[in-house]
Amino acid sequence: MSAQRLDGKACASQVEAELLDRITHLTERGTQPHLAVVIVGDDPASHVYVNSKINTCKRLGIRSTHIALPSDTDEASLRQHILALNEADDVHGILVQSPLPAHMDEEGLTDLIHPDKDVDGFHPQNLGRLVQGRTDGMLPCTPSGVMRMLRWAGVDLKGKRAVVLGRSRIVGMPAALLLAAKGADATVTVVHSRTHDAAAVCREADVVVAAVGRPDMVKADWIKPGAVVVDVGINRVDDATRERGWRLAGDVDPAVSEVAEWLSPVPGGVGPMTIAMLMENTVRAAEQALDR
Ligand code: NDP
Repeated sequence: MSAQRLDGKACASQVEAELLDRITHLTERGTQPHLAVVIVGDDPASHVYVNSKINTCKRLGIRSTHIALPSDTDEASLRQHILALNEADDVHGILVQSPLPAHMDEEGLTDLIHPDKDVDGFHPQNLGRLVQGRTDGMLPCTPSGVMRMLRWAGVDLKGKRAVVLGRSRIVGMPAALLLAAKGADATVTVVHSRTHDAAAVCREADVVVAAVGRPDMVKADWIKPGAVVVDVGINRVDDATRERGWRLAGDVDPAVSEVAEWLSPVPGGVGPMTIAMLMENTVRAAEQALDR
């Protein structure tokens, strides 16, 4: 058996098509959604992510402002940029690209973003709403992209056993909350680095979401036949056979495809969905600003 492809690109195209209507409607009402992206330093992968966010904005007719600051920027001046963007009425969404340089307090700085403009969904107010079971606000993009992909594939989560590998603030923990939320209704177990026998826990699962940052960690014999597997991981691994000397690997061994019913590819799975959800949050922020 070879798993069906949980095709994030195809699902993201559908999300984009729906967004185009909303953006047209906003433009008719005199508002163009506007996303500000702030990046500090010259981490090449982060610049690739930022460029693809900006290119998606262009494609959809979302205005974008790209603020690139040198790696020795001090925290006070980044704080000033964020506060100015909070004040700017024509900016609807603010994203500070992670990771920030080591001398900066990343959580403290992103907490400065006004919750209404927090299109990454990491502000305590937005995460707090999610903990309360309110899933109609700014949701973190990667976990909400995972949920949208599962819905797109027609995966019924009700009463199913889901295992989330990873408990980070930006992926694992919000993914677990969304899977367990009313309406999704899965029964969720969170696996982390202190879990005993993660393989045995995964083997019980109907749905596995892997977000650990360890290339190919989830093996075929961890997966129950017919399970749905979502691979969030994006890991660079050395590969001398490639011209550039490396390739991208997920957290899930590709051999899982022989056991699972659905498997998301890397690249082309959760990555495009994360960007699509960022666009959706930006459009939602613009709609809400207009209605306030
Ligand atoms: P973090 O490093 O913040 O979190 C990793 C989590 O995995 C932690 O909770 C950690 O446990 C857990 N973990 C690490 N090793 C093991 C192990 N051996 N067994 C069980 N659990 C383990 O990573 P992120 O959540 O930020 O990202 C996870 C992956 O997702 C990365 O590959 C990242 O690149 C990718 N990613 C992809 C995105 C996309 O758009 N597709 C967006 C964001 C991230 P503990 O808490 O105990 O340390």
